[in-house]
Amino acid sequence: MGHGGGLRESRWLLAKQRQPRMPAAQPAEAPQRPDLQEVSKFMLLEREVELEHRPRMLESLQTKVNVVAASLQDQTPACSRCSQPMKGHDTEMVSWEARFGRLHASVARYRCPTCKGERRPLLDLLGVEPGRISGSLARLLALLAVVAPYTLAARLAWLLLSVKITPMGVWKVVQRLGESAARYSEGMSQYHADSRSEGASTQEAPPIVVLSVDGSMLGMQVRKQRRRRQGCESLPPLPPVEEGQFQEIKTGVLLLPSERVETSPGRHSVVRRFLVSCLGDADAIFGHLYAQLRELGWLDTANTMVVIVGDGAEWIWNRTKMFVRRCEILDFWHALEHAWGFARLNYGEGSQQADRWIHQIAEDLRAGKVNEVIARLQRMRPKTPELRSKLQGLIAYYSEHAGRMRYDEYLRLGYGIGSGAVESAHKQVVHARFRQAGMRWSEAGARRLLALRLLLLNDTWALLDRLPMVSVA
Ligand SMILES: [Zn+2]
Repeated sequence: MGHGGGLRESRWLLAKQRQPRMPAAQPAEAPQRPDLQEVSKFMLLEREVELEHRPRMLESLQTKVNVVAASLQDQTPACSRCSQPMKGHDTEMVSWEARFGRLHASVARYRCPTCKGERRPLLDLLGVEPGRISGSLARLLALLAVVAPYTLAARLAWLLLSVKITPMGVWKVVQRLGESAARYSEGMSQYHADSRSEGASTQEAPPIVVLSVDGSMLGMQVRKQRRRRQGCESLPPLPPVEEGQFQEIKTGVLLLPSERVETSPGRHSVVRRFLVSCLGDADAIFGHLYAQLRELGWLDTANTMVVIVGDGAEWIWNRTKMFVRRCEILDFWHALEHAWGFARLNYGEGSQQADRWIHQIAEDLRAGKVNEVIARLQRMRPKTPELRSKLQGLIAYYSEHAGRMRYDEYLRLGYGIGSGAVESAHKQVVHARFRQAGMRWSEAGARRLLALRLLLLNDTWALLDRLPMVSVA
């Protein structure tokens, strides 16, 4: 068959595949379901022990709570505002949810005769709230939600912790702990923005720190407020999600080039990296980066060289001046991507000529010959107005960033030339949890979950034990 028949032939094949298949000739024996084996004896024992001990753990925890309660019985608390002794007001039974079940306590309430302030010393001391999920269970639920969508997190809670909870229940815990984590990180950034703040010791500050930043878009909810049902009338259907409801999440990565290791030929990874991310403006991300550097003791202003790698985005380069000793690098791959834009148009998509042309530019840029590249571009005489404007754009881009394109030098100094670290970090922070199919976020919801996710990715999850569960509206 000639070439002409190829298309018709493949169409015929497709049509044939779409036809229902004739049942295959049946073998003599009836089909057998695949086997399932019995649950192993050992697994049954494990589960049995867990079931037996769960109530005992609850009991034992309740006993400990009772001991704490008894220790407070004869104490009259002082008012937290005016320091006057308070008066017993009433006592109520309260309960709260914990890892092994529900705990109960009889809680005395005191009132200040002068300023009418109230206190429940037992609850203050335990750090629990009546009717709420408390303590380590709350942290574990938040942990599940940081890695999986709320519905899956609720399912995991059952499978891993034997805790029955709705996705909405998990969501609530995340809002309360996430708000706390976000406030902490924002507070840290404000603290370090003041010159009187104290950072970690810079005695061991590294000579070079690499900082790279990147941004990507997050799909936002169109509604500013969660809809509430009024009485029993049903809610009208939701309007379709509009396009263009996006907000940028910015991510920054801090790493030490001395800790880069070659894991396999050509593949580099770092032993440690610190991620910073926020749903905010450029000042916010740089504020967070600065605070993180100070917390790590990585920034000895007079001695540490801060290497900043970024794409052409102006917001990055407008803010690097905060670092006294710095080296600004335009991400090598972004520089090439711009050249590709012209090459595709000029030589044709996927043409060998375009490949060769780019290859030469890459080689020259790597060798630090940015000015020669610009001169060569200026000698080109493209034929169409579109090509001319594309070329002018490229020349302008290279000229503007020429001082950030001394790639030979950066390579020699071990700074690196690409922002691969931040791109992969960004995927890990944002895409893997926030950009799954159909996900839409409220600003508050994204900010809170982001703060929690960073704790896990930066291996500082334990910090959450020391943050309160705040009330959120
Ligand atoms: Zn008082």
